[in-house]
Amino acid sequence: MTDIFSETKKSILKISKKFNLNENAVEKFLEPARVLEVKIPVKLKNGQTKVFQGFRSQHNNKLGPYKGGIRFHPQVTKEEVMALSLWMSLKCAVADLPYGGAKGGVIVDPKTLSERELEDLSRGYARAIYDVIGADRDVPAPDVNTNPKIMSWMVDEYVKISKEKKVQIPENILYATFTGKPDKDHGLAGRTEATGFGGVVVLKELVQRLGLKSENQMVAVQGFGNVGLYFAQFAADNGFKVVAVSDSKGAITEKNHQFKALDIPLVLKCKKEKGMVSGCYCVGGVCDLSKGRPLTNEELLELPVDILVPSALENVINKKNMTKIKAKIIIEMANGPVSYEAYEYLTKKGVVIVPDILANAGGVTGSYIEWKQNIENKKYKKEETLKMIEGIMELAFDNIWNEAINLKTHLKEASTVHALKKLLV
Ligand code: GLU
Repeated sequence: MTDIFSETKKSILKISKKFNLNENAVEKFLEPARVLEVKIPVKLKNGQTKVFQGFRSQHNNKLGPYKGGIRFHPQVTKEEVMALSLWMSLKCAVADLPYGGAKGGVIVDPKTLSERELEDLSRGYARAIYDVIGADRDVPAPDVNTNPKIMSWMVDEYVKISKEKKVQIPENILYATFTGKPDKDHGLAGRTEATGFGGVVVLKELVQRLGLKSENQMVAVQGFGNVGLYFAQFAADNGFKVVAVSDSKGAITEKNHQFKALDIPLVLKCKKEKGMVSGCYCVGGVCDLSKGRPLTNEELLELPVDILVPSALENVINKKNMTKIKAKIIIEMANGPVSYEAYEYLTKKGVVIVPDILANAGGVTGSYIEWKQNIENKKYKKEETLKMIEGIMELAFDNIWNEAINLKTHLKEASTVHALKKLLV
């Protein structure tokens, strides 16, 4: 079986050939500059020490410091982290941010760890990659299963080590080494919402270009973490009908295919009580499960909605289920949720797919504002942040839309070529 990194390289080379980019330069670009492999020993509460394996792939820094999240997941592999770091290089170029691309990962199921063990693992990872990161070198952030609390442990460890080493860097710059920190702890108001917010900016632009009305569009969102939740919320605020949502345990929608707009804040409240969204059919201020239909995540993807928003993991729309997808628009809020094969198939069928490197760039854009805020020793208000993200995302969408028209192709090829033109030397 070919791995995700090889597949990504193959598909980018194919695109490069089609658009006559310099093949040697593309081949050189594709390989990460450095992939660090680390071992992190953590003393578990049963007294035993478990050694976790982690990675940091620094892909390309032509446009600025390496930038990208750290994921904690049992299925993390070196190749996955390398592919994700390559996507970050493309994503930062698409959003026109002064950053290169990187990604980190630790092979772990964080749900099996106690709070103490998770803190030790987070601090241990920061210590292990200490030498290769910094506000002007490589700036990590959250990704799948990592959050502001984990970032605050990591940056605290980073600042502690820097002080022990008597590093002559002002404290505010040391804090700029990690983004996605808690708002009250050197972070940015609005960073948590940034990815979902940016995705809805892109969706609004797309709907307008296609001459559609947001009020008539039914949306299904897969994933109810920070990305999916805020996407659903901002989409609902902008008049879209979010009719189905899911988390890792399952999905919920209306019982008799009479799709109704869900009350997202209430679904969230209910999920916090019940521990899963599939028990939460909430519409117009009332939760009443008898009117709802619990679904599997796979069934959610195949619903006859207008817009599908995969916001969880990669490769959920693939060769096996691509023929069953009914949505006319897909917004890739996760990284790589639509496989290359499925992308080609669905695009040929007329489905418009906004690729991840454009659709979810609101997150790293939020990170950029946080980093800038730390470096400039300022504190931005949430409204200012969201306004800035809106401007950057609108411009990015416009650039890619025009590139697609220029190249007479779809948005994925357009965004890849647009990014590569900036990145090749
Ligand atoms: N993990 C997010 C992404 O894949 C954010 C990265 C960042 O803020 O650096 O885009």
